[in-house]
Amino acid sequence: MKTTKTIFQDGDHKWIAIVRDPEKPNYLIDTNEYLVTHGGQGLLLDPGGAEVFPAVFSALSAEFDPSALAGIFASHQDPDICSSLALWLEFNPGMRCHVSWLWSGFIPHFGGTADTFVSIPDEGSDISLCGLTLRAVPAHYLHSSGNFNLYDKTARILFSGDVGAALLPPGEEGLFVEHFDKHIRHAEGFHRRWMGSNEAKRRWCERVAQLDIDMLCPQHGAIYQGDDVQRFINWFDELQVGIVNG
Ligand code: FE
Repeated sequence: MKTTKTIFQDGDHKWIAIVRDPEKPNYLIDTNEYLVTHGGQGLLLDPGGAEVFPAVFSALSAEFDPSALAGIFASHQDPDICSSLALWLEFNPGMRCHVSWLWSGFIPHFGGTADTFVSIPDEGSDISLCGLTLRAVPAHYLHSSGNFNLYDKTARILFSGDVGAALLPPGEEGLFVEHFDKHIRHAEGFHRRWMGSNEAKRRWCERVAQLDIDMLCPQHGAIYQGDDVQRFINWFDELQVGIVNG
């Protein structure tokens, strides 16, 4: 069973992180799922793989009525992001899946019908959750060719998908980054290999530095908060990516 932690709350506007699962087999990469709620509706961000669906579903259900989920936001197409799609839709066939237009013909292989998918154009779009506006922010080639973050201006939270991700060793699995320099060592190899373009990275750093962000929430690893958000952006801006020896 995964742990849930409310990381933001203002009335019924909440962000709930669904993290860590001591029973998860080690051969599966660890993932964070996030639930945004507002006005009695919920949007689930990167709901995870089919293998972790039971753990995510039971943790979420303890906090929120899953039949009130309006949709899923998929930052990109990977199996650890959204291979659970068919299982969520089985439970709630009316859910919408917001995803880059680039993947809207591929992700239906995980499930859904023509009505399920809402394509996000390259420049991004607004997603409304019962009157709360969330913004899909372009993060193309970081790492996927059609890739989005999700920004909540009211909560000042950026869900950053694989950007900011870290592969944490046992014993360093806190929900928040505590010592940036120590933490970032677990993110460096991941970013060098998975992020495909220095130019895309530079544009992302410029774009995101203009947003007012209290918490930067990746899909793997720990959450950056306060000054660590800008520290991360600066670190990423300097990093050379998209190179592999071999
Ligand atoms: Fe990925």
